[in-house]
Amino acid sequence: MTSPEDIEGLVRPELKAMKAYTPIEPTDVLSQRVEIAEENVIKLDGNENPYGCSTRVKQALANYAYYHLYPDPEQRELRKALEEYTGISSEYILAGSGSDELIDLILRLFIEPGDKVINCPPTFGMYPFSTDVCGGKIVNAPRKLDFSVDVAAIKKALDKRTKVIFIASPNNPSANMTSEQTILELLDCIPVVVIDEAYFEFSGTTVAPLVPKHPNLIVLRTFSKWAGLAGLRVGYGIFPTNIVKYLMKIKQPYNVNAAAQRAALESLKDTTYLHSTIKAIVDERERLSNKLNQLDWLKVYPSQANFILCSVINGKAKTIHKGLQKMGIFVRYFDTPQLKDCLRISVGKSEHTDALIAALKEIC
Ligand SMILES: *Cc1c(COP(=O)(O)O)cnc(C)c1O
Repeated sequence: MTSPEDIEGLVRPELKAMKAYTPIEPTDVLSQRVEIAEENVIKLDGNENPYGCSTRVKQALANYAYYHLYPDPEQRELRKALEEYTGISSEYILAGSGSDELIDLILRLFIEPGDKVINCPPTFGMYPFSTDVCGGKIVNAPRKLDFSVDVAAIKKALDKRTKVIFIASPNNPSANMTSEQTILELLDCIPVVVIDEAYFEFSGTTVAPLVPKHPNLIVLRTFSKWAGLAGLRVGYGIFPTNIVKYLMKIKQPYNVNAAAQRAALESLKDTTYLHSTIKAIVDERERLSNKLNQLDWLKVYPSQANFILCSVINGKAKTIHKGLQKMGIFVRYFDTPQLKDCLRISVGKSEHTDALIAALKEIC
């Protein structure tokens, strides 16, 4: 008979050793922890859309008649709608259960044990997470002090086993972009270049039109941030067509559930409303940035996304993070060497900015 100890011995050793991902927690859990009613919690830690999704999504999901049937495994209607939204033919497009799933699928497609993935920290934690799960080896090429990617360091890190590089643009958590020129340079020397445009709608800049001309470029997008669908899990990628063919082959057949496919379709029919929330968030980002800049103990980094990275230069980052939590305001705190004493603040509504600024003044 197999014992619990035997089970321990059966688990892949690299998975036993790997570091767990640190996800953010839902509002009800945060609310209970600090004993503040859920409706009074100000959640600025997940880069979620504070305006929520389109009302068309809520109506369509309430009235949908086919939850008892499997969704379209080829996502035909959604991919057609994405063709119109992106201006890129649907044969280049595939949707996933969040772009997180697509990160995993790309790595499953290319990575054999020991193959290398270039990561440019500080950046999104899912790249090393999924690389570890797939048995790949992460090679870090840290960003420079201004958080731009270090092309020379990347080139130095390359060898025969390098297969993939991930670049988030705008980057999470530093909120800056990587130029098209830099991306073209990487396309010349790395087998597969993945540009993660999770925050594209806030930056307005994309390299997606380059995909049909480059056999090794992938662009990832998501409905989680701009369309307010983080809870439904739907993202998509723009891939060279032969990569779409292989991903279609290896993905779970019904990877994007019926509700998520409907919700994404309805969002694409309500872009006028969604663009108005994007504009409100971008305007608020500028107002929040100005107010944070007035606090002389904060260094505020420029942002092309829906969040702002700040470095706390009075050494009190941890106290501030805890103090905000006690008042029901949740932001992301980092204390890695590259992000020492840093806070990442998602842009909320104007009342959230006002509450945050008042709280920061009270704490410091
Ligand atoms: C939030 C985020 C994602 C996750 O997108 P999902 O579609 O919700 O899985 C991907 N990449 C970056 C850089 C992000 O910040």
